Amino acid sequence: MSKTAFYDAIPVMEHISKHGFEAYFVGGAVRDYYLQRDIHDIDIATSATPDEIEAIFEHTIPVGKDHGTINVVFEGDNYEITTFRTEGDYDDHRRPNDVQFVRSLYEDVARRDFTINAMAMDTSFKLYDYFEGRHDLTAGLIRTVGDPNLRFAEDALRIIRGLRFQSQLNFEIDPNTFEAMRNAASDIAYLSIERIIAELDKLLKGSGIEKAFSAIQSINLLAHVPYFNQYQWQTLSLSEPLTLVQFLALLYLLEGKKAHIKTLKLSNQTLKEADVLYSAVSELQSIQSKRDLQIWLYDYGITLAQTILDLRPLFQNHGIMLPSPLFFNATSVHSLYEQLPIRSRKEIPIDGKVLMEVLQQPSGPWLKQALRKIECAVITQETLNTQSDIIEWVKLNVEV
Ligand code: ATP
Ligand code: MG
Repeated sequence: MSKTAFYDAIPVMEHISKHGFEAYFVGGAVRDYYLQRDIHDIDIATSATPDEIEAIFEHTIPVGKDHGTINVVFEGDNYEITTFRTEGDYDDHRRPNDVQFVRSLYEDVARRDFTINAMAMDTSFKLYDYFEGRHDLTAGLIRTVGDPNLRFAEDALRIIRGLRFQSQLNFEIDPNTFEAMRNAASDIAYLSIERIIAELDKLLKGSGIEKAFSAIQSINLLAHVPYFNQYQWQTLSLSEPLTLVQFLALLYLLEGKKAHIKTLKLSNQTLKEADVLYSAVSELQSIQSKRDLQIWLYDYGITLAQTILDLRPLFQNHGIMLPSPLFFNATSVHSLYEQLPIRSRKEIPIDGKVLMEVLQQPSGPWLKQALRKIECAVITQETLNTQSDIIEWVKLNVEV
C-alpha cells in the first residue's frame, strides 16, 4: 500500500490541528488506498468552518464555500478542504436543500453514500470506520450507509453511483441495497442528465461492466433515462468494458439513431466520434474486395480499424457482422495501411483548378466526384501520384 500520495497533504493537516481543529483524509482516496488502487485526488475533511480555514491559511480560494469547500494553496500545491457537514432535507431526489456545518467526523461520514466511501484516516494513517467499510471492502460489497431506501430516496444519483462502483471495483451489491435501488430506479428521472452521463461513462469503462450492466437491466434503470429509453437495451449484453462513444455507436448500429440525441447534452466531440464509429462499421459491412478495404482504411485510419477489431466480439454478440477474420484482421489491416501510397488528400499534387483546366470544364458537382475518383485511384495505385500520371489517368477514366 502506497502512502506517498498522502504525504504531501500531511503538513496542511498538521497546520489545521495546530490551530485546534481536526482534519482527516476521507472518501475515495481512503477506499482506493485500502484497495491498492491508484489514488487520483485526495479529499480532506475538517472540523474547522470555511471561515476558520480562510483565517488560518494565507492563500485560499473559496471554490465551493457555501457547501463547505475551500481550496488551500500550500507550498505551491492545491488542497481541497471541506468542512464536516450534514445535509438538510431533500425535496427533489437530487441535491439537499441546504447543508449544515458540524464539528463531528461521525456526522460527516454518516451522510456519505456507501460504507466503502465513508471511511476516514488521520495523518498517522489511523482508520476511522464507523460503518464497517473495511469489512465491505474485503468482502467486495457495495452497501449504503444506513437505510438504503432512505438514502436513495434522498438522492437518486446514488443508485447509478453504486452501480458505477460495482463496475469499477468488480464488487457485488448488498441484496438490501440492490432491492432499494430497484424500488427507487424511477427517481433517476429527477437528476440532471450531465450527472447521469458522468456516472454512466465511468460505469461502462469498469472491468465489472458485465455484472453492472445486468444489474441496470434487472432494475430497468435505462427506462428512466432520456434518449436511452427509446432503445431495446434489455437485449444488450456487455461483457467487456467500453467507452460511451462505443456504447452509442452500438445502439445506432442496432436500431439507428433516434430523435432528440441533444437531450443527452453530450459534447460535439463525443457525438462526432460516435457518428464516425457508426459509419465506419456500416461501411465495413459492405466491403467486398481488397480495393474497398484500402479505401476504407485510408478514410478511417488504422486506430479506428484496431478499435473495431477489438470490438469484434461485442459486435458479434449483437449480430453485427464484420468481414471475415481471414480478410479483416490485425495483420492484414496493418500491412495494407503501411502500404497506402498516401494518407491524406493533401498529398495529391492536383486540385480542382488544375482539373478544370485539363478537362476544360467550368466548376460543378462533377468536380468533387472527380477528385474523389482520383483519390481512390491513387490509394489503390491505379495511377502513380504525380501530376502528369494523374492527368493521363483522368483523361482516360473521368467523364464529365
Ligand atoms: P472517484 O474515485 O471516482 O473520485 P469518489 O468516491 O472520490 O470516487 P467523488 O464523486 O469524488 O467519488 O465523491 C467523493 C466522496 O463524496 C465519496 O467518496 C462519498 O463519500 C461522497 N459522495 C459523493 N457523492 C455523493 C452522493 N451523491 N451522496 C453521498 N455521498 C456522496
Ligand atoms: Mg473523488
